Amino acid sequence: MSHGYHGKILWVDLTERTSRVEDLPEAIYREYLGGHGLGAKMLWDNQPAGIDPLGPENVLGFIPGLLTDTGTLYSGRYMVVGKSPLTGTWGDANSGGYFSPALKRTGYDGVFVRGTASQLVYILIGEDGCEIRDAAHLAGLSPEETESAIQREVGDDKIRTASIGSAGEKVSLISCIINDAGRAAARSGLGAVMGSKQLKAIAVRGNKSVTVQNEARLKELNLAYVKQLKAGGSFLDKRAASDTHTFGKLLRKLPVAMRTEGGAYRELLRKYGTGGAMAYSVEVGDAPVKNYDGVGFLDFDMDSKSWHLSDESVIQYQQKKFFCHSCPLGCGGIVSIPDGKYKIDKEHKPEYETLAAFGSLCLNDDFESIVMLNHICNTAGLDTISAGVTVAFAIECLEKGILDPSETDGLDLRWGNADAIIELVRKMVAREGIGDLLADGVKVASEKIGRGSEQFAMHVAGQELPMHDPRFDPTFGTAYAAEPTPGRHTTSSNTYFEMMRLDKTFPELKKPSQLILKKSKYRYSGKGARQAAVSEYIQAGSSAGICFFCMITGGIPVYESLNVVTGWDVGPADFLTIGHRILTLRQCYNVREGVSPGSVRVPDRARGEPPLERGPLAGVTVDVEAMRAEFYNALRWDPETGVPTEECMRSLGIEGGVGDTK
Ligand code: SF4
Repeated sequence: MSHGYHGKILWVDLTERTSRVEDLPEAIYREYLGGHGLGAKMLWDNQPAGIDPLGPENVLGFIPGLLTDTGTLYSGRYMVVGKSPLTGTWGDANSGGYFSPALKRTGYDGVFVRGTASQLVYILIGEDGCEIRDAAHLAGLSPEETESAIQREVGDDKIRTASIGSAGEKVSLISCIINDAGRAAARSGLGAVMGSKQLKAIAVRGNKSVTVQNEARLKELNLAYVKQLKAGGSFLDKRAASDTHTFGKLLRKLPVAMRTEGGAYRELLRKYGTGGAMAYSVEVGDAPVKNYDGVGFLDFDMDSKSWHLSDESVIQYQQKKFFCHSCPLGCGGIVSIPDGKYKIDKEHKPEYETLAAFGSLCLNDDFESIVMLNHICNTAGLDTISAGVTVAFAIECLEKGILDPSETDGLDLRWGNADAIIELVRKMVAREGIGDLLADGVKVASEKIGRGSEQFAMHVAGQELPMHDPRFDPTFGTAYAAEPTPGRHTTSSNTYFEMMRLDKTFPELKKPSQLILKKSKYRYSGKGARQAAVSEYIQAGSSAGICFFCMITGGIPVYESLNVVTGWDVGPADFLTIGHRILTLRQCYNVREGVSPGSVRVPDRARGEPPLERGPLAGVTVDVEAMRAEFYNALRWDPETGVPTEECMRSLGIEGGVGDTK
């Protein structure tokens, strides 16, 4: 008897309007868990190479984590997988909220959709299979409105949905998939894949629960963690979390850097959410400023600018906290803007990435305008990171004379002009005028504009860069270039290694020092094994459905929970092997698609070419290639080509040569 999963998935073909159930053997769950691990296995086995990501052959999977709905803490994540139309590589995105457990209660461990409908449809999935329903009447509705409309139509207010808004319907390559009115599976442009399939929503309802092999032990593990969470971090952790202003100013000036402590970040998340580190990040150089060309304390000063987007400035608007399913921490929140031109009754609190993308990157310090921008993006289903980077690109193009004022539909696009930024994003959603030029992100826009605009387009292989500057932590550059989903910040970095303290479990990974000379960050050797271990851990943890923030702040017994839920005997090294297998299969997918390391490049500016002349990152040039080679070596992938070695494939039990086109 299986514990923790149902042992079957649902396949839906929108062209044929058919569905079928596939039973999966236990071995697949043991090897790939759930989430994007299971998704990688299904796409590897069932999708031909070289397909058009916006064509009917692209398979779009929605897969809860293996531990979702088992009672394991922080296990409410689901992942969407498919070939990314933004990058042409492996694509995945991850979201929390309450959709994932609802999907699992249908009795399926995932739903995989291929084909293209002849008109807008939604898929209603229940315990006995699914119906493909007409969705013409849902066209143009926001994800929140879509969910309410489907609930009314079916007469069941417990139905949960993952859907696209109007940006996805218009196949914007930076569109995303939204659940719970603003939790986003945002990256890789997978909203556009839904739009290309004419699939408005996946709606789920059911009551099929999975069994847990040892419930009593799971409760013990949960209680021990919650006790530790309630006690809070050390004195220093609490101090750091409650005074990021002082720490930011101090650490910017000192020649040393402090180890990033998971406990301190957990305190910060609990108190403020991810926006708690915003001003600190700008000050020390982590958050990019002015389209990656600015300097925090000079261009977006902490006292007069970035602090407006950080800590107390953010939570003064918070009406209540938002907790994802099975989360004891609650880093989310619901905010309202009571009056003024950006009045909003309720919206999800902007996350750090959103605050930085529409804030420091565009030199916009108006928090209320960023809540409005978050609202527009959540309503239309647009990735806030990509949208913010695209706005910054447009502003710089205008400033540099690459775009002419006559090409901006009368918008006064200047750094920090919140009204113009809002209007521009509205136009991007509507694909109207200059908005149509920008609606597919900076790579497509710069190719259309030409005139040297490429140098201001901050993307890796088409995906807009996240809000962690590789010149601050160079290993983010490795992650952006070397992980199978280009330009992702939730995969691996040295900062995460410090926070997770994997060295406690794997002593061969050298313990990170509490204090280091800043210049030692820029030695580009000796970091590959650590980064590989972090990446493997996060691959396995995410596929189990565990929240990324919980993993990087440490202390959660992930593989122990996996064992008590399933009855398996997975040790820490086995857990990393599972992560290695998932990571490698995603890489195989890219190799099969013809993606070479040379085509996945961190933009010059983010590598410090030329280096900044001022500020905490002055003079830094990042050697991404040296770090990528080490990372690949640690994973037993060819350092030149990125192709996993035969020995690596054999040891992980991956079948199907990367040359196969199936
Ligand atoms: S820590 Fe935040 S993102 Fe993670 S599960 Fe909890 S509320 Fe959701």
